[in-house]
Amino acid sequence: MTTLKGVGDSLAQRLSKLGVETVQDLLFLLPLRYEDRTCVVPIGSLRSGERAVVEGDVQLAEVVFRRRRQLLVRLADGSGFLTLRFFYFTAQQQQQLQRGVRLHCYGEARRGTLGLEIVHPEYRRADSADAQRTEDSLTPVYPMTEGIQQGRLRILTALALAQAESHAVRDWLPTELLEGEGLPSLSDALVYVHRPPPGADLETLIGGLHPAQRRLAYEELLAHQLSLRLLRDEIRSDPAWPLDASQTLAAQLRASLPFSPTGAQERALQEVLLDLGKPSPMLRLVQGDVGSGKTLVAALAALSAVEAGFQVALMAPTELLAEQHHQNFERWLKPLGLPVALLSGRLTGRARQTTLDAIAAGAEVPIVIGTHALFQEGVRFGRLALVIIDEQHRFGVEQRRALRDKGLGDGRVPHQLIMTATPIPRTLAMTAYADLDVSVIDELPPGRTPVKTVVLAETRRDEVVARIEAACREGRQAYWVCPLIEESDELDYQAAEATHAALVSALPNARVGLVHGRLPGAKKQGVMAAFKRHEFDLLVATTVIEVGVDVPNASLMVIENAERMGLAQLHQLRGRVGRGAAESTCVLLYRAPLSQLARSRLDVMRSTNDGFEVSRRDLELRGPGEVLGTRQTGLLQLKVADLSRDSDLLPRVQAAAEVMIARHPDNIGPLLRRWIGTRDRYGRV
Ligand code: ADP
Ligand code: MG
Repeated sequence: MTTLKGVGDSLAQRLSKLGVETVQDLLFLLPLRYEDRTCVVPIGSLRSGERAVVEGDVQLAEVVFRRRRQLLVRLADGSGFLTLRFFYFTAQQQQQLQRGVRLHCYGEARRGTLGLEIVHPEYRRADSADAQRTEDSLTPVYPMTEGIQQGRLRILTALALAQAESHAVRDWLPTELLEGEGLPSLSDALVYVHRPPPGADLETLIGGLHPAQRRLAYEELLAHQLSLRLLRDEIRSDPAWPLDASQTLAAQLRASLPFSPTGAQERALQEVLLDLGKPSPMLRLVQGDVGSGKTLVAALAALSAVEAGFQVALMAPTELLAEQHHQNFERWLKPLGLPVALLSGRLTGRARQTTLDAIAAGAEVPIVIGTHALFQEGVRFGRLALVIIDEQHRFGVEQRRALRDKGLGDGRVPHQLIMTATPIPRTLAMTAYADLDVSVIDELPPGRTPVKTVVLAETRRDEVVARIEAACREGRQAYWVCPLIEESDELDYQAAEATHAALVSALPNARVGLVHGRLPGAKKQGVMAAFKRHEFDLLVATTVIEVGVDVPNASLMVIENAERMGLAQLHQLRGRVGRGAAESTCVLLYRAPLSQLARSRLDVMRSTNDGFEVSRRDLELRGPGEVLGTRQTGLLQLKVADLSRDSDLLPRVQAAAEVMIARHPDNIGPLLRRWIGTRDRYGRV
């Protein structure tokens, strides 16, 4: 920044607090809004609420006391008059604002007691020699610039723009792309955005929809797309063990199942097996709605690695889920003579060390299940060839990258299979997960009846309790989900305890269990297992049961304060029922009054059971940034682009990335440095 005229060390320091280190950074600090100072508006045609330049002669100036001391100046231009009101003013100002002086003012006109007025206008004498009457372009207003005045920023951006026009800021987008897309050059775009010409369409500009702004958004999205593509290529360029087993173990598992996999499960599995057979690491995301049977696909894939003599690690987002996967895998794989280890937080001391030693030794422990603790220091795998990550929405780009570094020590990198129940639309998936291949399980196992969803005011709690009583009497089981309170473990637990106590006394004939995040792992697992064995009729739970928990006999779910939860979470929760043959119901209790957004959300839940549809509607309601979550993608740090507003650019950006890689590889590095910087989470540049 110090290369700009008038920028010394102290200003440079203040700018750097705004993230502006270079002239280029300054150019990408875009205005929030604009003021039109390009023409003088006749006072007679000025409307209340309008921000405008006016010019006129001072007719009257007086200091009055109306609650506070203030200076009132009456300005007239022949078309009308206007009052300028100053609450703070110096003696010098008072001196200057004399009858007969001609003023050039800018401010927002408002209706006041004396007709139209402007409080504290910017003004200068219009009859001075140096008075430049109006501006040549719209005046930019920059975002939050503590310690630096807007005027100073305007001077600096003007200097920076002059440099940009003299090609100090290179355009890394090839003409081929710009012409094909009908986008302006970088310098034209920057000049337009910082200094729009008089008459520019302000609404389009404020909406971020002007071609100049779209050009910058396009470039930024392209940089992100390229960075993920490079990360992908980088990971794929490492060697991995090709796992082309003969599927003997898989055949044994299939033979032992009471059902056969759905067509969609088979398709996803084939895609996975094909990847596993290659000598470069798989990076595949399997998207499948809640209950679509992702676990079985994972287990069959795992057997390929095991049969080839390697280890598999399965990572779950919570201890509860890790324990449940452990049970499932043991049930399926123990009969095949395969031990399944659980590396849980509960395992301590000698027992833990023994397990760790066995894992490090290799193939004696072919399958290890745990939470992210699996990948902490001190856990060493002897022959790890496949990592399976369940419920991916809790793991992001950084974690995927960290896993890659958990290689075998002999230079081979494990294959990665990532499973998620949070489906997202295809174009968005291709942007957010440009480093992954995607398989979709778009079919539920047969015999499921869709869950019926009803939305009820909390005041009808008694009816709901009666319904639970009836269901339990018929031998069915139910969940009662208490909301997470303000991220506070303590309150969360208290609320669950209180609800539990209330339901115990309301349902004297039912056996009511309680599970929440505060329970130690063993206790939690004990309660869940008891619920699964039908030793409880009703399970009061916090959202710890959100993901993955599988109890097919449970066919009724009540969710309290459903209006506070997001759609993805509600859909996950609802997926805990409808797993057996019985018709299931999900009751969403809300506390009035409902916000517009909450009402729309509950309507979505009532109208569809399809996870893709839910996520499509979620995207409409909240926008992609919120839907994807911060952890999942670097896309939230976008400076110019907005995933909702610019989502139509995504397919074009994906195509452009191919063009860049094929024909303009040298431009990629500088483009990434411009937009992404040197954060090491991205691919080597
Ligand atoms: P999710 O995809 O949500 O992880 P799960 O893997 O937990 O789903 O499977 C849900 C339930 O469906 C489990 O009880 C599982 O055993 C069962 N299941 C899986 N595949 C099939 C199938 N092809 N036919 C019938 N039931 C299946
Ligand atoms: Mg699951």
